[in-house]
Amino acid sequence: MTTIQPPRFAVLQLSGCAGCEVSLLNAGEWIDRFDLAFMPLVTSAYDVPEVDILLISGGVRSDEDLHNLRQAVKRAKKIVAVGTCAISGGVTNLGNRDEVRQLFLSQSERHNLPRMLPKSQPVDVFVDVDLYLPGCPPTPELFMAALLEPPDFKASANVCQECGRQKLMDVKPTHLVGMAGGQVAPDICLINQGYLCVGSSTRGGCRALCTRPGHPCVGCRGPSNALIEKDSSTWLESIQRVFKSMTNIPPEELREALLSPQMALFLFQFSDYAGGDRPARSKDKVL
Ligand code: SF4
Ligand code: SF4
Repeated sequence: MTTIQPPRFAVLQLSGCAGCEVSLLNAGEWIDRFDLAFMPLVTSAYDVPEVDILLISGGVRSDEDLHNLRQAVKRAKKIVAVGTCAISGGVTNLGNRDEVRQLFLSQSERHNLPRMLPKSQPVDVFVDVDLYLPGCPPTPELFMAALLEPPDFKASANVCQECGRQKLMDVKPTHLVGMAGGQVAPDICLINQGYLCVGSSTRGGCRALCTRPGHPCVGCRGPSNALIEKDSSTWLESIQRVFKSMTNIPPEELREALLSPQMALFLFQFSDYAGGDRPARSKDKVL
């Protein structure tokens, strides 16, 4: 009797925070259906072996990252870029700021440290990617959808469609209340309550994890398909139109908040899909 081998997969961790790996571990359904061949957080292994699927988390920040990435993709049939860092550079992208870079480079006499590349890069600058799985981190359900490709999985076009909060056209706040604004009324759109929620332009699939309990969406899943091949000014105009129709918040106040460093951590991704120094990402490849 022949035994059917389960698909083998590996998780290559580049520069990131390991939040994606924790989310994957929370999605326990894969355990009986896949053979996890490599994941430094869980299994001890020196090199990525031959696998069917390679999940890549983290950005390409050092020459060690780049070497590991190039070696690993040679041994995998399917490449999946996972999370904000792999897709857009993420937290490690902060190292692109000059003062942080200088700080690291000035300590170049330190031994046994990987050499910093001039910039943090997404993985698709260096290798072809079959599938993008955005999120910071992607939810366990999204990990399962990337691994199993279930025919019944469907991500909504944007977070609003999964949120369930009602948009009211006759309740118009005059100012933003800040991220920690206090009491949040259930069932009513957070914009109506003065919160800076960007769920209308963010791709769905997370089941509105943040907004349903009352935290504004900060856009960690990246742009919705309607915005994915557009530049950042198109996105900015789109979200400004949403707030103009639903609030009386002065445009300058809204613009300043949207461009604040706090929001930039995720919103910078919205300009990242259109290309630049690499081909544009096709929405057909984004889960
Ligand atoms: S709270 Fe945010 S995600 Fe929910 S409906 Fe309002 S804008 Fe959309
Ligand atoms: S609601 Fe927004 S910030 Fe929260 S998980 Fe979903 S996409 Fe990310």
